[in-house]
Amino acid sequence: LGLATPAALVVGLGKASQRGILIRTGAALEALAQTKVMVFDKTGTLTIGKPQITDVYSPNFSSEEALTLAASLEHSSEHPLALAFIEAAQSKGLALDRPDRFETVPGQGIRASLRQKFTLLGNRTFLQSMSVSIPKTFQERLEVWETEGKTSVVLAVDFHVVAAFAVRDELRAESYALIQWLRAEKFQIRLLTGDRKSTAEAIGRNLGLDPSEIYAEVLPSAKEEKISELQNLFGPVTMVGDGVNDAPAMARASCSVSLLGGTDVALEAAQVTLMRGHLSGIRDAVLLSQATLRTIRQNLLASFFYNALGIPIAAGALMPHFGIQLSPVLAGAAMALSSLSVLVNSLRLRRFHQWNQNELKSF
Ligand code: ADP
Ligand code: MG
Repeated sequence: LGLATPAALVVGLGKASQRGILIRTGAALEALAQTKVMVFDKTGTLTIGKPQITDVYSPNFSSEEALTLAASLEHSSEHPLALAFIEAAQSKGLALDRPDRFETVPGQGIRASLRQKFTLLGNRTFLQSMSVSIPKTFQERLEVWETEGKTSVVLAVDFHVVAAFAVRDELRAESYALIQWLRAEKFQIRLLTGDRKSTAEAIGRNLGLDPSEIYAEVLPSAKEEKISELQNLFGPVTMVGDGVNDAPAMARASCSVSLLGGTDVALEAAQVTLMRGHLSGIRDAVLLSQATLRTIRQNLLASFFYNALGIPIAAGALMPHFGIQLSPVLAGAAMALSSLSVLVNSLRLRRFHQWNQNELKSF
């Protein structure tokens, strides 16, 4: 009975790590096995996290000048979008300035003083909240980009919009297959992002997600609340994220998953780490955790009945009526046999990769 849980856990966790899935605790494995709700971060999780600038619109500026300003700000930012700007500036050989003052506003953008001018870079809700109005010509561009699934970033200098950038981050090749698998397994699926609704919906369409499954324009602080909400509705929730602005949500979730290659924060916050940096690990992790939990239950049930019968017999319960008495030697052997059966049943988990092979082919 004492071995029933640890034996299965050790084999299950070991098997997982063999497959590049690091599960921190038994509790995380249990939560993962019981979850039927999977929440995904967008940037860096469902997408590859290598955003690129596809369009620049700056009617009164050269695109180099606009890019220099934006990249000078993003240079000090840790947001995944920043990479797009820094790379574009580098490839064009642009010399960047250092902002005099700099502040990131999580889930919104950057507020800084650059060349003695008050500069804002971020999404349009952020700019509007700072009393910058977005000219109609800009708005039209932004809407087109967003319906193409691109993230738009707007630059304002001294409260005037001077440039807009479209940033695209490709979906991971395995994202679609994973979503379809989760759907077939009757999971509730959610996409949780700070990005615009239209951008998120365009990306969601490519993944076969319904608009009702997409929570867009959610500020970092509200992401955690969304997780609580889902927990109240559906029970245990698993959150897959990259730790940028979603570390509190990951901490709130019943189980959290991150991909290697994400941020340090994510690796710190996540209970499950996919070492191969590939989303298909989620399917393995779910199947393996379910198989482990099943094995634990079998072990407990078998041990319980075995002991419930064996101990009274060994104590002589059948002696008065049937004259049957278990010799201590046999009782000892039976005890060892019980441990052995639990171990053998647990070791069956090692064959996991055999029965999972066919399912893996579609990835
Ligand atoms: P996600 O949920 O996709 O990880 P975030 O919550 O980090 O997105 O950010 C939401 C939005 O805020 C981004 O889509 C972007 O428009 C804007 N934003 C946040 N940080 C920055 C930044 N450093 N530069 C430009 N835009 C930013
Ligand atoms: Mg993020």
